[in-house]
Amino acid sequence: MKKEIGIVAYKCKKCGKLHYPFHDRCLACKGREFEQVKPQGNTKLQTYTRIYNLPWGFDVRYLTIGVVQFENGVRAMGQIHVDESYPLQNGMTLEPSWEPIRIVYEEPVYGLVLKPKT
Ligand SMILES: [Zn+2]
Repeated sequence: MKKEIGIVAYKCKKCGKLHYPFHDRCLACKGREFEQVKPQGNTKLQTYTRIYNLPWGFDVRYLTIGVVQFENGVRAMGQIHVDESYPLQNGMTLEPSWEPIRIVYEEPVYGLVLKPKT
């Protein structure tokens, strides 16, 4: 079974702006009340970059990191799992999942993983 995406965004009760991660006050209207929103649906790639100098705990040669927007507007950053030669493009659809992204003290740490729809 697929693991639920472990991200919660915060929607301002006054103006509806989505925040992730959490902010004390709404960035748009300075409101202080939020309702929790789970990301939904697939994601669209907004921007991405590739990192070759990785900190300890990553057992890979490079990482591709992207910022995506879910169908309900929540934005988050995740690892894009594609080959180096894959033609990534801003605006393309990526399928989100919640998977181990690194090992810390022999324990898997889960995070957002994005893959092109097959
Ligand atoms: Zn607001």
